[in-house]
Amino acid sequence: MGQLEIEQIGKQMKVRTRVAPSPTGDPHVGTAYMALFCRALAHKHGGEFVLRIEDTDAVRSTAESEAVILDSLKWLGLDWDEGPDCGGPHGPYRQSDRKHLYGPYAAQLIAQGDAFHCFCTPERLTEMRAEQMKAGKTARYDGHCMSLSAEEVKSRLDGNTPHVVRMKVPEEGTCLVQDKLRGEIEIDWSQIDMQVLMKTDGNPTYHLAVVVDDHLMEISHIIRGEEWINSAPKHILLYKYFGWPMPELVHMPLLRNPDKSKLSKRKNPTSINFYKDMGFLPEALVNYLGMLGWSMPDGEEKFSLEQMVNQFDINRISLGAPVFDMEKLKWLNGRWLREELSDDQLADKLIEWSFNRETLLQVIPLIKERVDVFSEVAPISTFLFDGMLALDESSFDGVKNLEPDQVKLVLQFALWRLEAQRDWSAESLNQLFVQLAEQLDYKIRDVLAPMFIAISGKPVSPPLFDSMSLLGPDMTRARVRHALNSLGGVSKKQLKKLDKQYVALAN
Ligand code: GLU
Repeated sequence: MGQLEIEQIGKQMKVRTRVAPSPTGDPHVGTAYMALFCRALAHKHGGEFVLRIEDTDAVRSTAESEAVILDSLKWLGLDWDEGPDCGGPHGPYRQSDRKHLYGPYAAQLIAQGDAFHCFCTPERLTEMRAEQMKAGKTARYDGHCMSLSAEEVKSRLDGNTPHVVRMKVPEEGTCLVQDKLRGEIEIDWSQIDMQVLMKTDGNPTYHLAVVVDDHLMEISHIIRGEEWINSAPKHILLYKYFGWPMPELVHMPLLRNPDKSKLSKRKNPTSINFYKDMGFLPEALVNYLGMLGWSMPDGEEKFSLEQMVNQFDINRISLGAPVFDMEKLKWLNGRWLREELSDDQLADKLIEWSFNRETLLQVIPLIKERVDVFSEVAPISTFLFDGMLALDESSFDGVKNLEPDQVKLVLQFALWRLEAQRDWSAESLNQLFVQLAEQLDYKIRDVLAPMFIAISGKPVSPPLFDSMSLLGPDMTRARVRHALNSLGGVSKKQLKKLDKQYVALAN
């Protein structure tokens, strides 16, 4: 679609976009990347950008993760016109607050004959899938419950038999997905599962909720990652069943690790807060995310959010695999820092970042016993202000009582525990490691030895747990991952083995 066409659409109907993060973990740079493009398209056309929280996964969603996601997007300057914090005419903007909305839509589909109750047990479904896989077929619901009579369905419902609601999907033919960037994509219906729309617990799945919400929130353009292309046929079909106009689909290319695999925290820090802790400027990070998927008409790589919005043209989105390269981001940040900030402004930014009284008051109790003169303060505490430490295998030479494999095991297990840890006080971190050492039947000293190197770069340092608490979850986890990588990393095979041991440990 050309620029003009979008402008015409903009005149007929409001351009409304949304970013829809699931609050199940750290705020991901991929979320910021989507938010940026959603915001740019909507604001270029005088429309609105919505933030919706998709917490249909009640087990993994947390209020804390939601708060951190909102804060980090605000830090980046990617604020929204409507959302759970600021409200708006299409609220509520959190799916768990919209629970009551979805049931009637599922009921409508059942009444129309476009969806059905499914009473299959998890055991039957597992068996069915295993047989399909054995026969070399795509694992897909076999339609078993579609043949139940109305009486049979009623009696099972009356008997409170656990059930889900599934959508019907054509047996054959192809679905044509119109993507604004990719044109027409053909996907065979035989590849599409009879998606569960309502779960046993009465909550909607992502697929039903996303369609209902995008419609009710009058979203005109769905901008999301390319990993959702294969879900598009289900959504297109639901729009058809409901008789609703289909929004435009824009599937953005996924951010990649330098080895071209999907951006993952194992290979590259993905938490927005890590970049904040590292001392990147939010303007530079936003600029970099923009640059990864889009280019200015004059080819200038350094541009502000405002410049991007003013010049935004969907046709300039590039479909190449964008590699998130921290060195390039650093280069861009350097330009922002040198070209946009006076010495005075830079001093203010540094104070805001970490060179302030509040941070000093946290550092002093850790070093007071270890220094006699002021000039010893900086050398002993640099690691608290540092980014990724210069580590290699020899850095761990001082770890005497563990074999190299055990060092990796300790770091990986610690990392998994730290990823699940919410309370970041020194006391809780202490407990975490005491428990890990007990479960491993290792001496606490031996468990902590590689941790000292990972966190401070040295075998001895100011108190470890206080230091980790001060560094915060993002920097701490990134350093432990970095330590593992500097020991050659953990292969997929090793990771599988470690995962088995880890699960056994917890039981
Ligand atoms: N909640 C989905 C996610 O976190 C959003 C996908 C979409 O934009 O439709 O990826």
